[in-house]
Amino acid sequence: MRKVMILSGAGLSAESGIRTFRDHDGLWEEYDVMKVCSAEGWEADRDLVTEFYNARRKDLADKEPNAAHRMLARLEAEYPGQILHLTQNVDDLLERAGCRELIHLHGTLTDLRCEECGAVFPVGYRSQSLEERCPECHSERVRHNVVMFGEPAPAYRHIYEAVAQSGLFVAIGTSGQVIDVVPLAREFERSILVNPKRERHITSFGDHEEYIDEAFTHFIQKKAGEASEELYGMIQGYLEG
Ligand SMILES: [Zn+2]
Repeated sequence: MRKVMILSGAGLSAESGIRTFRDHDGLWEEYDVMKVCSAEGWEADRDLVTEFYNARRKDLADKEPNAAHRMLARLEAEYPGQILHLTQNVDDLLERAGCRELIHLHGTLTDLRCEECGAVFPVGYRSQSLEERCPECHSERVRHNVVMFGEPAPAYRHIYEAVAQSGLFVAIGTSGQVIDVVPLAREFERSILVNPKRERHITSFGDHEEYIDEAFTHFIQKKAGEASEELYGMIQGYLEG
């Protein structure tokens, strides 16, 4: 049975209005990314980081899945067990579109996590309050459930499992800066990248010569929503080929 590995990133949710640090419409100006998205920042000022994720949750509440989220949910429903979908996104737009078999590599915005016992429990779109307690062990040491820079990401083991099982790699809306998609794409005979613009491949040597799309066999240079029907056809063609 043919399987497809899908890795989605911020570009998937951009058309739904989810802001990122790489956009030019706000978050960079409002917050210092290393203060609110790193383990050091969390140690230095937990209130600021909590406020930041409270704002992200509030921001997510009125957003809607777009055509690409819906297409990915449709694929999952039509090809059960054949779509191995890993997302770097912490929003719940894929779930709201109907995805059920989804791995969140960087955690989830709509949950909180207990630092004592590790329990993860839903918070929805509301702010984390000062009275928040773990429902399992009643600890006060409760935090957002998003992986920050400088923290381990245990879900990354699913990347290697998916590579080993799949014959087609599809990367959607990722710049390749957090998870390097170039070596991943090179593991596959067939690979598809969907991005609205060409992204430079930034290596550890600071070498900016290569574009990440050059490592893929197909490049759809469109926004995720605009590419969704074309991408659906290509994935379906592979699964039924
Ligand atoms: Zn607990």
